[in-house]
Amino acid sequence: MESDKRERGLNRRHFLQFTALTGAGLAGAGSLLRLPTLYAQTPPAVTAAGKCEQLIAASEKIPITTSIFELFKIGPGPSSSHTIAPMRAANDFMAAVNSMDDQTLAAAQAIEVRLFGSLSATGKGHGTDWAILAGILGQKPETCAPEFLDSLKKNPDTVYRLHVGRKDISISDRQIIFDKLEHSYPFSNTIIMRLLSDKGILLEKEYYSIGGGFIQWKGWTEPKRGTPAYPYGNMTQLKELLDKNNISLHRLILENEKAIMGTGEGEIYSRLDLILKAMEASVQEGLKGEGVLPGPIGLYRKAGDLNRKAKKIKQTEARFMVRLSAYAIAGAEENAMGHRIVTGPTAGSAGVLPGIVYMMKYQQRCSQQTLREGLLAATAIGFLAKHNASIAGAEAGCQGEIGVAASMAAAMLAYGQPGHPIRVVEDAAAIAMEHHLGMTCDPVGGYVQIPCIERCAMGAVKAYNAFLIATVETPGYNKVSYDVVIRTMAATGRDMSSKYRETSQGGLAVYMVNC
Ligand code: SF4
Repeated sequence: MESDKRERGLNRRHFLQFTALTGAGLAGAGSLLRLPTLYAQTPPAVTAAGKCEQLIAASEKIPITTSIFELFKIGPGPSSSHTIAPMRAANDFMAAVNSMDDQTLAAAQAIEVRLFGSLSATGKGHGTDWAILAGILGQKPETCAPEFLDSLKKNPDTVYRLHVGRKDISISDRQIIFDKLEHSYPFSNTIIMRLLSDKGILLEKEYYSIGGGFIQWKGWTEPKRGTPAYPYGNMTQLKELLDKNNISLHRLILENEKAIMGTGEGEIYSRLDLILKAMEASVQEGLKGEGVLPGPIGLYRKAGDLNRKAKKIKQTEARFMVRLSAYAIAGAEENAMGHRIVTGPTAGSAGVLPGIVYMMKYQQRCSQQTLREGLLAATAIGFLAKHNASIAGAEAGCQGEIGVAASMAAAMLAYGQPGHPIRVVEDAAAIAMEHHLGMTCDPVGGYVQIPCIERCAMGAVKAYNAFLIATVETPGYNKVSYDVVIRTMAATGRDMSSKYRETSQGGLAVYMVNC
């Protein structure tokens, strides 16, 4: 828990001086800037957008029906694509196995799992095999204790007995095979799970880890859901709905969640509180962590060290930035430990939003309701990125993970402004995303450590900076809309070589190891 009155008292003049001096616009301000008069200015005329009609993605014409709790998932790190989704696939496969009749199951001899794409290239470093084994053994992502996964890792040769129908079969890590990187399945991260008899295959399922812990499978169809109360597929449509219905952004997201999932408002708020609590816990635990992270890199944990040293830094802005970095690194280090985190939107980026949430709560003393509403604003931004581009490093590179996390965090900060000006929310999200465009995913050794952990700190600092620029600049000066930046992100991800999409075949993953 942190508090510093001097940081909360930083004023606008000080920030603007600092921004002008650095030229980068980075300023540490411990309080949300209160600048209501700026919003009242008339924006300059905006260029007509008709010309880019052909660039509008087909997805933008389809309303978003994702649930808040599909975006924010509690589960074990270090990668939502590589741990949470594979564990969920294993859960689904075991449910299918357990629904088979006893006569068929009597012939069962073994389970075989084959991993393709970046699950094959970096799954070992991410602990995909342990997540799948835990899922087969009945563990669920939200409740799997870190100690359970730790015990699997510490005893790699153990053979477990698995109850299938009326018999037991053996299962161990050796039955999880890291197969080909290049393949012809429709999604990069593919998992084939088979139940085998001595004569052949009794059951086979083909799963896809599509980013952010989401899974689909061959023959998957969109589950039946309610119609959103306020249907939108891009930011332009969202803003029109807000304006036309005179409704706030967090209320619109709440009403849509109720309509799509049939969940009551009380339950949504309690689940949001759980998400916020889990985010806070990941930072708190991370700040206590010491020693070296698992894996061959030998990377020292540094969140606690940075946080302690921040107290001695005299310059307010520097102290603020070191603290914010420490909070984000704390969440990211918990993720690297394989401990419980919240995807926001992914596990690799699980330090960014928790770092901002922690700072808002303990530095800025934001109320629980402000945090809930901010999280709902961040949700809207994450939905749009997932719906129209990607939140998977394996699909879009790191721009889809840290980039999207930073844009969500910037939106959350901006939503704390009086009156929740949507112009500021959109600009903050767009600025944060714009300056992550083209960022590759190149985890060294396949471990979500370098560059991922510090990248969470950079994402949180950029989010804060984007929020400040959007808040202070003259309305209308920002010309890059969130829709444009998301279309650009999608196209850039498509153009990106697979070397830079979570395969550890390029970038730091190559140069750091070979030099
Ligand atoms: S480099 Fe970025 S996208 Fe890749 S694993 Fe790390 S955080 Fe995720």
